[in-house]
Amino acid sequence: MAIHEKRVAEFVEQFRIQPGSKVTLAKDFDPGYRKGIDSKKAARELLGGGVEMLAEYQSRLYAEGTHGVLVVLQALDAAGKDGTIRHVMSGVNPQGVSVHSFKVPSSEELDHDYLWRYAKNLPPRGEIGIFNRSHYEEVLVVRVHKELLERQKLPKESRDHGIWERRYREINDWERYLTDNGIRVVKLFLNLSKEQQRVRFLRRIDLPDHNWKFSSADVKERGYWDDYQQAFSEMLSHTSTEWAPWHVIPADRKWYARIAAGAVIANALIEIDPRYPEVSKETRDGLQEIKATLESQAPDGALADPFEVKQSKDGA
Ligand code: AMP
Ligand code: MG
Repeated sequence: MAIHEKRVAEFVEQFRIQPGSKVTLAKDFDPGYRKGIDSKKAARELLGGGVEMLAEYQSRLYAEGTHGVLVVLQALDAAGKDGTIRHVMSGVNPQGVSVHSFKVPSSEELDHDYLWRYAKNLPPRGEIGIFNRSHYEEVLVVRVHKELLERQKLPKESRDHGIWERRYREINDWERYLTDNGIRVVKLFLNLSKEQQRVRFLRRIDLPDHNWKFSSADVKERGYWDDYQQAFSEMLSHTSTEWAPWHVIPADRKWYARIAAGAVIANALIEIDPRYPEVSKETRDGLQEIKATLESQAPDGALADPFEVKQSKDGA
C-alpha cells in the first residue's frame, strides 16, 4: 500500500469541523490552503496512492456487504464537484458505485416531503453512493431563494418561523438514522474563493470545448455570493455532528481538492474497516473435495491444477 492509513487519518483531521463549533466560512477557512503537501511530486504520489487505497477498500466493502457509504458533495458552481467525482472514482469497480446529481425538483418530487427524493437514491450496503448536490440544497438554495420554499407546498405551520433550525435537526436525525443502520455519511464541502470562481467562469467562456459547461444562471447565482456564504456557514455550524461531520475542502487548487476529498473518503472506509467474508472450516473442507474432483477430470497431458503450479512458481 503506497500510503499508510495513519497518515491519511492525520491528513484529513485538519478539514473536519468539530461538532458544535460556530463556523464563519470567510474568516475560518482559506480556499487556497495547501497544508500537508509540499511538492508536486508528493501530490502525484498521494493522488495515485489514494486512488489505489480507495479501490482496495471498496472491493472489501462490496464483498462484506454490510456497510454502505453515502458521499455528500456540496459546493458553489465551478468548485470542481464533477472533476472530484471523476478522480475519486477513477480506480474503483463501477459495479459498487453510483452517482446521483440533484437538480431543481420535479413536480412529483415536490408532491412529497423534502427528504423523499434523497432517501430514494441512497446506496445499498456494500456500495458507495455519491450525491452531487444533496439534501443540503434544502437549506442552501432554498434558503437563499425563498420563492423555492413557496413551491414546496408546505402547510403553513411547517413554513413558519424556525424552519431552518427544524430542517437542520431533521437532517441530523436522518443522518443519525442512516449511520445507525450501517450507511455511513461522508460530507464534503468544496470551498472555492470568489476570485477563483470568476477565473473558472472566464475559462469556460474562453475555451470552446468548455462552453457547454458555462451557464448564465451560474453567473446570476454568483450575485448571491454573500447570501450563500452565510447559508453555508450556518449549515456547517448546525449539521457537523459526531456521526456525520463536515469536511471543508480547500478548492482553489484542483489537485489539492482531489487529494483531500479522496483522503476523506478513504479515511471513512479505513474506519469502517470492511473485511472479506471468512469462509468456515466446513466450507473449506468442501472446497478441497471439489478440487480433488476437478483435478481428476484433467485431460491427458494437462496439469491437474495449473493455477497451483503457477502459484508455487511465483512464490506466492
Ligand atoms: P447543476 O448542478 O449545475 O446541474 O445545477 C443544478 C441546479 O439545481 C442548481 O442550480 C441547484 O441550485 C438546483 N437545485 C438542486 N437542488 C435543488 C432544490 N432542492 N431546490 C431547488 N433547486 C435545486
Ligand atoms: Mg451549474
